[in-house]
Amino acid sequence: MTSAQAKRLILVGPPGAGKGTQAKRLLDQLRVPHISTGDMLREARAKGTELGKKAGELMDRGELVPDEVVIAMVVERISEPDAKTGFMLDGFPRTRPQAEALDTALEKAGLALDAVVLIKADDAVIERRITGRRADAKTGRIYHVEFDPPPPGVEVTHRSDDTAEAVRKRLDKYHRETAPIIPYYRSRGLLREVDGLAAPDEVSARLLEVLGAKA
Ligand code: ADP
Ligand code: ADP
Repeated sequence: MTSAQAKRLILVGPPGAGKGTQAKRLLDQLRVPHISTGDMLREARAKGTELGKKAGELMDRGELVPDEVVIAMVVERISEPDAKTGFMLDGFPRTRPQAEALDTALEKAGLALDAVVLIKADDAVIERRITGRRADAKTGRIYHVEFDPPPPGVEVTHRSDDTAEAVRKRLDKYHRETAPIIPYYRSRGLLREVDGLAAPDEVSARLLEVLGAKA
C-alpha cells in the first residue's frame, strides 16, 4: 500500500450497517479514538443529565437529536488531546448542517478529513440486524443473537431504540437526512465504499484496504 494511512475518518452507513462493530475491531490498527455520538448520548442518558433525558425521548422514537446539540458535543470531543492525531467518527455527521459544521471546525484548526467510508447495507437486512443486536454490559462489545451470539455467562443489554418500529423510523431518517451527505463527500474525492453485507472479517480487511492501512 503506497498511500498514507488515513487518520481523520468518518464511518457512515444506515443503522445496523456495522459501523460500531468495525470501529471497535479496527482500534488497534488505526490507533485513533472511536467517537460515537450514539454512545455519547447513551452515556448522557445513563447519567441522567438534562441533555440525556431530552435526547433519550427522541432516540426511542427514532428521531434525530437537534444538530446544535450533537455539533457542540463533537466539536468539544475532537479537540481533546487523544484526538489530536486523528479520530474515527461513527454516527456523525448525520445531516448536511452537521457535515458543514465539522468542516468549519476542522478548517479553523487547520485540519482536514482524510476519508469518509460508506458501509453499505440494504434495508432488507437492517431490521434483522438491529432487533437482534446486543451489547456486552461491561465492555460494550457488540453481539448479534444469530450472527455473533454472546458466549454463555456474558451479561448483555438490548438498546431501548432497537425495536422494529424505531428502526423503520431511523431508516427513513437515514434516507432523507443522512444519505444526502454522501454526494457532498464524493464530490470532494473523500468517499470510499465497502460492502457491509460481507462477513465481519471481510468487511474489516476491505476497510483497511480502502484506508491505505495494513491488515
Ligand atoms: P451500526 O453501528 O452501523 O448501527 P452495529 O455495528 O452495531 O451497526 O451492527 C448491528 C448488528 O449487526 C449487531 O448486532 C452486529 O453484531 C451485527 N453485524 C455487524 N456487522 C455484521 C456483519 N458483517 N454480518 C452480520 N452481522 C453483523
Ligand atoms: P445506529 O447504531 O442505529 O446507527 P446510533 O447509536 O448511532 O444508531 O444513534 C442512536 C440514536 O442517537 C439515533 O437514532 C439518534 O436519535 C441519536 N443520534 C446519534 N448520533 C446523532 C447525530 N449525529 N445527530 C442526531 N442524532 C443522533
